[in-house]
Amino acid sequence: MLPTARRVLATRATGLIGRAPALNLSAHDRQRLLSTLAILEQRDGQLNHSSLSAFTAAQKLGGPVHGFVAGSNIKSVAEQAAKVDGVEKIIAVENGAYDKGLPENYAPLLVENIKKGGYSHVIVGHTAFGKNLLPRVAALLDSQQISDITGIESENTFIRPIFAGNAIATVESSDAIKLVTIRGTAFAAAELASGSAVVEDGVDPKAESATEWVSENLTKSDRPDLATAGRVVAGGRGLKSKEEFDRVMLPLADALGAAVGASRAAVDSGYADNSLQVGQTGKVVAPQLYVAVGISGAIQHLAGMKDSKVIAAINKDADAPIFQVADVGLVGDLFEKVPELTEQVKSA
Ligand SMILES: Cc1cc2nc3c(=O)[nH]c(=O)nc-3n(C[C@H](O)[C@H](O)[C@H](O)COP(=O)(O)OP(=O)(O)OC[C@H]3O[C@@H](n4cnc5c(N)ncnc54)[C@H](O)[C@@H]3O)c2cc1C
Repeated sequence: MLPTARRVLATRATGLIGRAPALNLSAHDRQRLLSTLAILEQRDGQLNHSSLSAFTAAQKLGGPVHGFVAGSNIKSVAEQAAKVDGVEKIIAVENGAYDKGLPENYAPLLVENIKKGGYSHVIVGHTAFGKNLLPRVAALLDSQQISDITGIESENTFIRPIFAGNAIATVESSDAIKLVTIRGTAFAAAELASGSAVVEDGVDPKAESATEWVSENLTKSDRPDLATAGRVVAGGRGLKSKEEFDRVMLPLADALGAAVGASRAAVDSGYADNSLQVGQTGKVVAPQLYVAVGISGAIQHLAGMKDSKVIAAINKDADAPIFQVADVGLVGDLFEKVPELTEQVKSA
């Protein structure tokens, strides 16, 4: 029998009530009319992982795929995106007002460009940017958003986890424009390869916004980014203090070239920064290797890491639920086992 956290319940929820009547078209005609706009998220001129995953999801739908990007000095970002194989066009809007992706002016911008392009699907990563932006776009287009999908069954049927990943819903939408956010870990990032999409200027409604970007305070780290790292080592309440968390976990992360993550209990106790929280109310990760140290395996933590390819757990309690999802488990005192493991990795 599958361990509890990996068990899923398939449901078919047709609860997405479409306001537009379902089109009575053949599969071939629908495919012909289908076209997708992937919204690209950029920071300081670099496309992020979820933008490239949005391209992958868009290509799964079939039909032409366009990308959309806006901000200052945007042409170089558009040209990066144009290298993704199979993408027809990148629509770029040059205007510094869109640099921070504020939904107040970005949503009307997007609506104008969606209407102009006549897209049937719009896809964006389920990131802070996508989650902030798409509900407004959906409201302006009178469409029902389809959130955090992990699979595409057809052009109107999508798979999404619900109840912190304990059930998987299959949702069907009859809206004329499907507005979809995707879970980045479920769609591999498209590669910047040898594509040669056309870069075209988009329309800019220059909507007034009552909201102004003031400042941001970002945590800087030389370690790999938690959301996209191939290896993650995460610590929990078992670490006992911030000093011990840093002393025990950071050398293991360095030895493995891994990103550092933490349970909510560790974050709430001040052992690790908020940005490192993994789980239902933190980041969702799916690295090749996830090492859980002094983490019990509460369902809300599992929601953020159970799709990792290999899960290793170190815990002194042999009955800790984390062992139900772990591929490799070590029962013992973490203060003894982790330094030993670190030395072994270093000397391997
Ligand atoms: C709405 C909601 C959202 C939540 N979102 C999240 C979320 O996003 N992420 C998240 O992580 N949690 C989340 N939680 C909290 C979650 O329910 C758990 O409380 C939390 O994950 C527990 O963290 P932990 O495993 O570090 O601590 P504990 O459950 O206290 O486990 C500590 C573990 O360390 C082990 N241990 C102790 N000492 C040692 C030692 N010396 N050597 C080896 N092992 C040792 C213990 O055996 C134990 O298993 C959420 C809860 C709610 C209600």
